[in-house]
Amino acid sequence: MNTRRLGLMRCGICGRRMQGQQNHSRPYYRCRFPDEYGVREAQHPRNLYVKESVVLRGLDRWLASLFDKHHLDETSEILSRASQPDPNEEARRATFTKKMVLRVELGWPFDSRSW
Ligand SMILES: [Zn+2]
Repeated sequence: MNTRRLGLMRCGICGRRMQGQQNHSRPYYRCRFPDEYGVREAQHPRNLYVKESVVLRGLDRWLASLFDKHHLDETSEILSRASQPDPNEEARRATFTKKMVLRVELGWPFDSRSW
């Protein structure tokens, strides 16, 4: 199981993040809805499992469709825009750098929580 996808998988019923779990040496995503939430079984099963292989098949199909002849131009344009620098991010980095330089000059500790 690729743990990088774990934070991305959300339950389609409750919206909570799903956890990774191995069942019979096969990777699954699981949403365990605790009894304390007071939700009936008809609304959300206590444990809901999705095979990772099913997710990957759908993900692969979707990714391949982004680069087919019907979507290639649109996908290229989106990727091109995404690779442009974000002016807000550059401003945040410049501010961060100025604060770092000032803290070094003043001899202040590096406690990022106070920034
Ligand atoms: Zn759920």
